[in-house]
Order: sequence, then structure tokens, then C-alpha cells
Amino acid sequence: MSLRSFRKVPTCDNDVLVVGSGAGGSVVARELAAAGRQVTVLEEGPRVGTDRIAAATPAENLRRLYRQGGLTPVFGTPTLAYGEGRCVGGTTVVNGGLLWDPPPALLHRWAAESGIGGYRAADLAGHLAAVARRLGVAAQPHGDGNRDSRLLAAGAEHLGWRWQPSQRAVRGCLHRNRCTTGCPSGAKQSMAVSYLPEAESLGARILPGTRVLRVLHRDGAVRGVLAAGPGGRTVVHRAREVFLAAGPLQTPALMQRSRIHRETAGRELSLHVNLRTVARFGDPVHADRGTIFTAQVHQFADDGVLMMPSNVTRGTLAAALASRPPQLLDRLLAAFALLGSYTTQVRLQGKARLRATPGGLLLRHGMTSADHSRLREAFRRTSEVLFAAGARELVPPVATARPLHTPAEAAEFCRRVRPADWELVSVHGMASARMGLPERGGVCDGHGRPHGFRGLRVCDASVLPGVTGISPQGTVMAFAHEIAERFLTAGPGRP
Ligand SMILES: Cc1cc2nc3c(=O)[nH]c(=O)nc-3n(C[C@H](O)[C@H](O)[C@H](O)COP(=O)(O)OP(=O)(O)OC[C@H]3O[C@@H](n4cnc5c(N)ncnc54)[C@H](O)[C@@H]3O)c2cc1C
Repeated sequence: MSLRSFRKVPTCDNDVLVVGSGAGGSVVARELAAAGRQVTVLEEGPRVGTDRIAAATPAENLRRLYRQGGLTPVFGTPTLAYGEGRCVGGTTVVNGGLLWDPPPALLHRWAAESGIGGYRAADLAGHLAAVARRLGVAAQPHGDGNRDSRLLAAGAEHLGWRWQPSQRAVRGCLHRNRCTTGCPSGAKQSMAVSYLPEAESLGARILPGTRVLRVLHRDGAVRGVLAAGPGGRTVVHRAREVFLAAGPLQTPALMQRSRIHRETAGRELSLHVNLRTVARFGDPVHADRGTIFTAQVHQFADDGVLMMPSNVTRGTLAAALASRPPQLLDRLLAAFALLGSYTTQVRLQGKARLRATPGGLLLRHGMTSADHSRLREAFRRTSEVLFAAGARELVPPVATARPLHTPAEAAEFCRRVRPADWELVSVHGMASARMGLPERGGVCDGHGRPHGFRGLRVCDASVLPGVTGISPQGTVMAFAHEIAERFLTAGPGRP
């Protein structure tokens, strides 16, 4: 679809447009503004400052800061819920603030598999250091609370398993335990309080409430975008260069709607999924006191499995266990001080597929039998470490399952559980418009440009060559830094 089709629509001229203000878009906006480029960021969601986050309830923030309240369905066996942010700062406003460097071996493998050079550990080290410095990344101490994390670490040590303190992008965390519905103290260094204010101070413009509907191009040259601003008024934003950073679901959807790699963008979305286990201990845990978590079990990281506590309040616990029998829910809520809630993150082998529809998105995952075995094994290992930590009772993430009281009961449960039984969520999507040679299934080249297109780059989680296995934000930001640097070095429109 070209500019000519929209001759009657109001038009404005820009130098660089960035679509989306999350982890990828904010890096590009800041770096290009620092290099003296005129940057305009188009963000579909609202701008919600720390004061407004602090004044609202977690439930209000859930509705305001997430797309569809964090419940985008991904159909399959079982159907699961996907959560992503929709606000200035993107998903970084509602995430846990964990920031890990991508393992060098992963980057090495990606480079070999994708056929794209220049994104190995040595190439990204400077970018990762810049991210860590700007966001104040450091190991998070346990503090006064976080007994759920201490117990997990003690369980891991009892079994001789590896665990690590969490690395987080926070400055002066007050342990308010509301990370995933927006930090009420501004301590978490989301893009909304770090890269974006810096970009604005360097001259970048952010237009919240502006949804990009189509990328406009002709003969492979991108000229701008068609967007709906606040109130639904459509505007054509012309630009010399457009950076797509609408996130791992919305970027490929936008590409499909714009007839850019319609068949390949969104065909292979990689996901991590999370299992939630509620554990009852003999002594008070007070899991609502503390930050998201301060310890993560890495013993099975090579298999794509990580274990960690999750934020818990009475409200989130009741919501998570809503499909359990009322007597069980009442009993657990009455023992709230004794409970911890734990997340097991599992890297899926099977890819999800995404189709843009007139009303939104249709997503379907393709979990393999290896994935189902991995889920069972991941839960069995989680129960092992929680019993070693002193748990008396575990409530597994299966609505119809009875609570488990011993490792033997957990092992028996794992033998019987069926794929459709699991209650799963996902908050990590990536590689849906991945970098790679076209003959290896790649959608974008080493500059983030969709193959065959000029004036367009992808710079968010979509462009990663594969699935990280770890929290992806650090990797997304390092890739975005490299894409921005390559753009500034090569100059617009040049290879
Ligand atoms: C609850 C939760 C916890 C998480 N915890 C962690 C963690 O601790 N560590 C970690 O590394 N990762 C975490 N993640 C994931 C991480 O935040 C994402 O991987 C990362 O933010 C992705 O960056 P992105 O730039 O691709 O997209 P996003 O950060 O999602 O940004 C995309 C932006 O584009 C906007 N947009 C979408 N479509 C359009 C459009 N058509 N027009 C204009 N704007 C549009 C969206 O509104 C959004 O603001 C978590 C995610 C969730 C949901």
C-alpha cells in the first residue's frame, strides 16, 4: 500500500519514526536522538506516570497498562494466556525488571544458524555494558522480606543445585511487590523512566495513543505509516526511515497487514511458558513482603527451565486459583501467611503461529511431545526443590488436581497429567520476524531490514534469531543498540 492511496488523509513529515516504545523502540529512539536525528515515537498505549500508577489499584493498572488486561489467547493444547504491555515504555513498565546478558554460547549458535555475523558476545559487550550502566543493573539483595526466595535458595542448596541472585534493573527498590502492575515508586528502570526521558531531553517526540495501522511502501521502498491518533483521526506520517518495535506479536501482525513478508512474518513465534505452583510451608513466609524475587534456580537452564518465586497478593492468589474447589481456596487464603507462589519458566521447542485478522490477532501454538515431557519434568523438579525447601503441600497448576504432599505423590501426578490439563501463561515471545539469511527462514537481514525492503528496520523482540531461554529484555536491548549503530554508521537507505 503506497502513500498515493491516502492522498486525502492529513500528512505530516518526519525524519525517523519509531513504532512502539518498549525495550527495542526506546533504545533506537534514544540512540538516534543522541546522534542528532529527529525522532518521533508512535505509541499505541497511554502515557501513565509513576504518580498515577501509585494512586491506582493493581487491578486498575492491569487494565490500563496491558493489552487486553494481559489475556491474549494462544490457542492449542492447552490454550494459554499471553501478556504484553500497551503503554509508553511498553512491556518494560509491567515486567519483573530482570536483566540477564545473553550467554555467549547462545549468541555463537544463533550466528552459526542464522548466517548473520556481528551479534556475538564480543560485538554486544559494549551495548550490554551501556544498558547495565544506564539502568543500574545489579544483583538484588534479599532485604527484609523475600523469604520465598530464601527458601527456594535453601532448597536448591540442599539438593546441590545452582541458583543465582536475580540481576535487576532497579535503583533503590522499596520492595512494594507490585512489579508486574507497574512500579509505584519509580525504582524499576522501565523505559518510561530511563531511555525515553533521555530521548525526549535529546529532542525526540513521543505521541501516545497513536496506533500504526499500516506501513506504506512502493516497490520495496518504505515511505511512512498510516496511523490512528487519539480520537481515531487517521494521519499519514511520512518518514525517511521507519523502525518497527511494536513487540513480538504486533510487529509481525503489522507486517502482515502491510503486505510485508506476509507469509513468513509471524509464522514462527518462539515462546517461554510459565507454570505456577503454590506451596504451603510450616512457618510464615509472608510472600507479599519483598520484591518480585531475589533468587532463581539455574540448575536446568541448559534444558530451558528456570525456577523462581512470583509476586503474590491475596488478590493474585485468588485469581490464580479461581478454578479450584471453593473449600480449597478458602483454606489456602486462611493460611495466606504460610504460602509462597513459584513460577517455572519453560522454553518451548514448538513454535506458535500468528495471523492478523481484521479485529486483532489469531494465535496458535504448536507444542511438541518433547515440550509436554519437558513440562512434566520441569514440574517434577520444581516439586523436588520446594519439598527440599520445607514445603508441606503443593498446589500444582492443574485445576482438577489434588494438592500434593510428598515427592512420590508429585512423581505420580507427573505420570498421569495430560497436556490439556496444564494451566499456562506466557509473557516472553520472540523471533517472530527473525534475523537470518532468507534461505534459512530469516525475515530480516543483519541490519534488521526485512529482506527486499528499504527504509524499514525491525528492532524489537521479533528480530531475535531464536529463543533466549532467559528473560529476553537484555538481549532485545543489545540487538536494538546494534541495529541503531549499524543504521547510524551506514546512513539511511544505504546497505
Ligand atoms: C509480566 C511480565 C513480566 C516480564 N518480566 C521480564 C523480566 O523480568 N525480564 C525480561 O527480560 N523480560 C521480561 N518480560 C518480557 C519483556 O518485557 C519483553 O520481552 C520486552 O519488553 C519486549 O520488548 P519489545 O520492544 O519487543 O516490545 P514491548 O516492550 O512489548 O513494546 C512494544 C510496544 O509497542 C506498542 N505497539 C504495539 N502495536 C503498536 C502499533 N500498531 N502502533 C503503535 N504502537 C504499538 C505497544 O503498545 C508497546 O508499548 C516480562 C513480560 C511480562 C508481560
